[in-house]
Amino acid sequence: MDYVTVCGLEVHTELATKTKIFCNCTTEFGGEPNTHVCEICSGMPGTLPVVNKRVVEFAVRTGLALNCEITRYNKFDRKNYFYPDLPKAYQISQLYLPICRNGWVEINDSVNGGKKKVRIHEIHMEEDAGKLVHDDWTDCTLVNYNRCGVPLLEIVSEPDIASADEAVEYVEKLRAILQFCGVSDCKMQEGSLRADVNVSVMEKGAKEFGTRTEMKNINSFKAIHNAIEAETERQIELIEDGEKVVQETRRWDDSKGVSTSMRSKEDAQDYKYFPEPDLPPIKLSEEYIEGIRSTLPELPEAKKARYISDYSLTE
Ligand code: ADP
Ligand code: MG
Ligand code: ZN
Repeated sequence: MDYVTVCGLEVHTELATKTKIFCNCTTEFGGEPNTHVCEICSGMPGTLPVVNKRVVEFAVRTGLALNCEITRYNKFDRKNYFYPDLPKAYQISQLYLPICRNGWVEINDSVNGGKKKVRIHEIHMEEDAGKLVHDDWTDCTLVNYNRCGVPLLEIVSEPDIASADEAVEYVEKLRAILQFCGVSDCKMQEGSLRADVNVSVMEKGAKEFGTRTEMKNINSFKAIHNAIEAETERQIELIEDGEKVVQETRRWDDSKGVSTSMRSKEDAQDYKYFPEPDLPPIKLSEEYIEGIRSTLPELPEAKKARYISDYSLTE
């Protein structure tokens, strides 16, 4: 039997603002644990968030560079979950009206040749969580909230990616665009660009997608590539053995080259989303959006095309 891979990515990028998304703490990487923290980003009762204007600007800038429609009236929602890296016990994110929708990135088509578009379903603004550090030596877990409240964009693709190579090229293109726009340093080793990889397989020519799995927080190109190849193989083997792929979240261990089951996939319902009552909706004028568009730099593809024609270079 011939199988095809279907893959969609959720890419998280930390924005290069000076301060966090809802408070004045620095976003600087590193620092002594729990020193870039205040009463707001540590979730003290009675405190209120205020949106960092620069985050909205960077989100619009990114959306325009990625050919998106900008949502003139967008708002924040509360995503509830209880976990020690999230002191408020909810993340402020956008579910119902994300700031950007319906964009695309062009990549090489690894199956049919030529070019193809990977469609972007949406881009939304949200806050990063803290970081848990599992200390095997003392057999305990520590938490560092420095990263808590660092602004993130989540860029969600449609399942238009058909191979590990295409996924890597898509993330490379995204990274170049984000860097040209100056919205993120995209340092994968510092976690400022990381991808959740969704993979399913189906028989060639099938009309319906197979059941997908998700591998979270992959932070190198090599790991993205390896994870997709290994997961494709694992799913094909299951199907060939007459078993079923289970929809779940898996942990990819790049050093061992295997993924293991983490938990069954959660639904939007599980997060009990509701409109964030502490923040007003954001209304963006035409003037504001066009103002940002006028400051966009020449983007990587345009620059490449110009170099090829002006300097007679090969691709
Ligand atoms: P959820 O909200 O449950 O995370 P979404 O529909 O928003 O699910 O999809 C999340 C990601 O999974 C998107 O990037 C999407 O392209 C991808 N995806 C959805 N269905 C499939 C599938 N059958 N195979 C591979 N990727 C998929
Ligand atoms: Mg998702
Ligand atoms: Zn703070």
